[in-house]
Amino acid sequence: VIEDELHDIVAGRLREGGHRYTAMRRRLIETLRTADRPMSVPDLVRGRRSPPQSSAYRNLGVLERSGLVRRVLTDEGLARYELTEELTEHHHHLICVRCGRIEDVAIPPGLERSIGRTLDVVGTEAGFATVSHRLDLIGRCRACVLGPVRE
Ligand SMILES: [Zn+2]
Ligand SMILES: [Zn+2]
Repeated sequence: VIEDELHDIVAGRLREGGHRYTAMRRRLIETLRTADRPMSVPDLVRGRRSPPQSSAYRNLGVLERSGLVRRVLTDEGLARYELTEELTEHHHHLICVRCGRIEDVAIPPGLERSIGRTLDVVGTEAGFATVSHRLDLIGRCRACVLGPVRE
């Protein structure tokens, strides 16, 4: 989705729900659009003239309920947010249990299709109509594998 189109989709979706596309919401969407990984609220409000975190959480809640933003689940207390796949593309995450870093990772198309088929079988056997999947890898990131041991 290209930038202008993305903002149009977001504005339209918010309008349907009776919400306005405020400067704050636009700023959150824009930050998430240019980020290459899911962002926490402290990441999102970093910098000059930043809105308070409470306001960021409230607005992310509206964006989340409107199906524009989703939370990436981690074991950490801090939620990380990203645009939904409808606005970006299907991908997975690498979640480091040591430093908490999360990276987006795309699986090559052939492999992705084969994962999809496998998961469809799992769903079908459970009488479940699968429409998509979420799959994250948990482990240690490159820096934590190679870096000095920290405790
Ligand atoms: Zn790490
Ligand atoms: Zn996938």
